Amino acid sequence: MNHSKAASIFNKDEKKVDWHDKALWFVRHKRDKAVHAVEGWESLRNYGHGIKAHTLSNLDNYLIQFEENALKNGVQVHWAANGDEHNKIVHGILKEHNAKKVVKSKSMLTEECHLNPFLEADGIEVIDTDLGERIVQLAKESPSHIVLPAIHKTKEEVDELFQEHLGTKPSGGDPQYLTGEARKHLRKKFISADAAITGVNFAIAETGGFVVCTNEGNADMGAHLAPVHIACMGIEKLIPKQEHLGVFLRLLARSATGQPITTYSSHFKKPVNGNKMHIVIVDNGRTEQLSRPDFRASLHCIRCGACMNTCPIYRRSGGHSYDATIPGPIGSILSPGKDLTKHSSLPFASTLCGSCSDVCPVKIDIHSQLYKWRQIITKETPQPFVKKTSMKMMGKVFAKPMQFERIGKVARWSLRNLPKGVINSKPNVWGKERDLPSGPTESFDDWYKKRKDNEQ
Ligand code: SF4
Repeated sequence: MNHSKAASIFNKDEKKVDWHDKALWFVRHKRDKAVHAVEGWESLRNYGHGIKAHTLSNLDNYLIQFEENALKNGVQVHWAANGDEHNKIVHGILKEHNAKKVVKSKSMLTEECHLNPFLEADGIEVIDTDLGERIVQLAKESPSHIVLPAIHKTKEEVDELFQEHLGTKPSGGDPQYLTGEARKHLRKKFISADAAITGVNFAIAETGGFVVCTNEGNADMGAHLAPVHIACMGIEKLIPKQEHLGVFLRLLARSATGQPITTYSSHFKKPVNGNKMHIVIVDNGRTEQLSRPDFRASLHCIRCGACMNTCPIYRRSGGHSYDATIPGPIGSILSPGKDLTKHSSLPFASTLCGSCSDVCPVKIDIHSQLYKWRQIITKETPQPFVKKTSMKMMGKVFAKPMQFERIGKVARWSLRNLPKGVINSKPNVWGKERDLPSGPTESFDDWYKKRKDNEQ
């Protein structure tokens, strides 16, 4: 199903759309306040951009340096070319340690590789321990946002879900009660886990260490209680030096939720005595994206979600309408690189207003990349007949000023005089969810000429 069709399903529940829109706009506002409180924010963004660009240009060397240092620290390092290899490696480690119960902290990479169903098929229990992730896991859904995975669910829906799966009492969606119950439920899972899986926010080539950022401390709990810790990271998570961490930690939390710092920035370097630590380094299409000059900067992404919170389309269409692991503006750049046909509608799910690029902490030119994908997609994939014909017609009209003027006159007259039912009729898909303005009596050209005449 293409994005607009999926979005129209989400749009059926108007109340929910309004609430979703407001909730994300609230986070965007928090981000603005937090950002304005930092002197030199733009310099920080420039640093972030520069460090990422440098790292990606020297990725081969930094990856080797990271591996060497991680091995020295007593960590076992594995390499996976794709999602399937990643899943097999993780599965192999769990088998080796006879691990049947796994606690996992939020990791979009494991979502991307579909790790949970892979492990569950072999009878391994995988519990997502981030509260939002656990909610979507219980609902048998995927995250709809990379930072706020259950943002599409109201607290009343969570109440019902917990009653069904955790045996809680009806509370009318009392967040304090529900969080307390979730904590009790997860605590049991943490204590009995045989292994913990975490993602990686930043991996440092210089030290072989890595950092995981959470607001709930769930990565810490899992990794410290279980005898085996498996960290799964995409190759783009590298940064060269420890001293660069400060730049990204300051950028990440403020852009994500408007916090000065994530509640837990957990630094991991070596296994605790007697325990095991593994790192799985995954490519899964990233090298290919790196080879596309127009899109390589998309690998700068530090997954803060700010571009989603600000995007007028995302806020009103919901994350699931993107049918991709990473939704929103950045997902619409990453996904077509993986499967152009399946995700060909995504780069069009944008107004190209540029707000995503404005908020991006690492200065990715998101809207320009979306525009570039559109040009490729219109050449390489079949386009709907109506769209193709209307674009061709518009091209012809724009090419001839006289014709443009005549058609403009007719359009202005029609907008002023034809009944709404005719203007917003079925063939006018643009008018489906929008009201067209009333046509002005004169064209811009006429207005400009008149103004010039008056000046003389
Ligand atoms: S593209 Fe930029 S704004 Fe969007 S999630 Fe990535 S870092 Fe954040």
